[in-house]
Amino acid sequence: LKKTAKQWDDKAREIRKAAVLGAGIMGGGIAYQSASKGTPVYMKDINDEGLKAGLDEAAKLLRKQVDRKKIDIEKMANVLNDIRPVLSYGDFANVDIAVEAVVENPKVKHAVLKEVEAALPDHAVIASNTSTISINSLAKAVKDPSRFCGMHFFNPVHRMPLVEVIRGEKSSDEAIATVVSYARKLGKSPIVVNDCPGFYVNRVLFPYFAGFAMLVRDGVDFQKVDKVMEKFGWPMGPAYLLDVVGIDTGVHAQSVMAEGFPDRMQQDFHSAMHLMYEKERYGQKNSKGFYRYE
Ligand code: NAD
Repeated sequence: LKKTAKQWDDKAREIRKAAVLGAGIMGGGIAYQSASKGTPVYMKDINDEGLKAGLDEAAKLLRKQVDRKKIDIEKMANVLNDIRPVLSYGDFANVDIAVEAVVENPKVKHAVLKEVEAALPDHAVIASNTSTISINSLAKAVKDPSRFCGMHFFNPVHRMPLVEVIRGEKSSDEAIATVVSYARKLGKSPIVVNDCPGFYVNRVLFPYFAGFAMLVRDGVDFQKVDKVMEKFGWPMGPAYLLDVVGIDTGVHAQSVMAEGFPDRMQQDFHSAMHLMYEKERYGQKNSKGFYRYE
């Protein structure tokens, strides 16, 4: 995978039109980012409420930029116009790349990947934004796995620069190069990684969370750990980060890591993270996690 930027660029296909499947937190964010950076995008969901939420979020982000005088109202209207909300795959024949960002459920993802492949032209690349499902297992849903790989954004999409491009066993160089080039077009910093539980970031992050959980078990105050890590120079400590990520999401990712690396990432059902989960303290999403959010 040691390729120079130029070697990747040579293999990338041109992307004129993109599609995002799922208009939730991530799909809405990816659609906004794509349209803002000049690639028009279809945003598909299964109901109007989903589409409305995606569009409202994009409008909110654009309005902030207008208020800060970073863009004018005309640019805002153009970007919104470049996000086409759709409930069907009707217009997908002119799409060059489709990013799947529906719910984290293998069955739903398999069904959606099958459907979208049937609607896309042969040259189009398909990428999944899954956080925890194996790219090789998802590749089985498509007829041509060489056109498929992972494209893992982080939340919130418009602020987080890193994108993991996950290479499946059958992903072609062209597919990877196209996704790398799309990520760059979106203003992101892509890294190409192989398929494994946790990909790259969660393999680093979850041992760190496990170390944090051990300190808490030893009786160290979690707020102190957060303060020290902030002084160390990190933007936030582990407790606050888990609240942002979502404790439920964290518990799920931890179980995937434990299954993938049983000797290293043994699951501890009495860890701070699991105890919070049992008490339904899911973090910022329900206003109570390690901290309270009024
Ligand atoms: P979400 O629940 O906010 O949004 C999912 C959307 O998918 C909903 O709008 C839902 O209506 C839609 N959907 C469901 N079935 C569909 C179908 N058949 N066709 C089209 N749309 C459908 O979820 P999210 O947090 O945006 O997560 C989406 C994906 O991104 C998941 O795979 C998740 O693991 C991954 N991810 C999430 C985060 C995060 O922090 N939220 C970060 C990185 C990756």
